[in-house]
Amino acid sequence: MAQRNTWQRERVRDALADARGFVSAQTLHAELRQANTGIGLATVYRALAGLAAAGDADSLQSPEGEALYRACTTQGHHHHLICRSCGLTVEIEAKDVEQWAKRTANLHGFRDAEHVVDIFGLCAACANRLDAERNTERDAAATGGTGK
Ligand SMILES: [Zn+2]
Ligand SMILES: [Zn+2]
Ligand SMILES: [Zn+2]
Repeated sequence: MAQRNTWQRERVRDALADARGFVSAQTLHAELRQANTGIGLATVYRALAGLAAAGDADSLQSPEGEALYRACTTQGHHHHLICRSCGLTVEIEAKDVEQWAKRTANLHGFRDAEHVVDIFGLCAACANRLDAERNTERDAAATGGTGK
């Protein structure tokens, strides 16, 4: 019985591997629908949750509270820097965070503590592009103001 949906899960895994950065189940589902796979949204959700549970995918909450997934290239525990504009993701180690999390949990008598720490921001390319756009707007406003 479990075998029946294996190809669907593999298909979701492939789509996830092709995706750039973190994506939502909806985004993946839309892509799979374009490819005419006939895989339903509920199946995509289940497959993603399964991949995340098996450690084959990273999952995290976007600042908007949406669950996002990504096929991970780093094994084991790690953190992410994520561009909120283009989705570029950098996998990072955070030794300071590991020590701080352990110390803080111990301090409060917590055991088996886990943590999720991901940094959202603008990558250098997006920051430069936004700066350039802003400058263009400012120039346009300036010439608009003095021109007439
Ligand atoms: Zn990762
Ligand atoms: Zn970016
Ligand atoms: Zn950590």
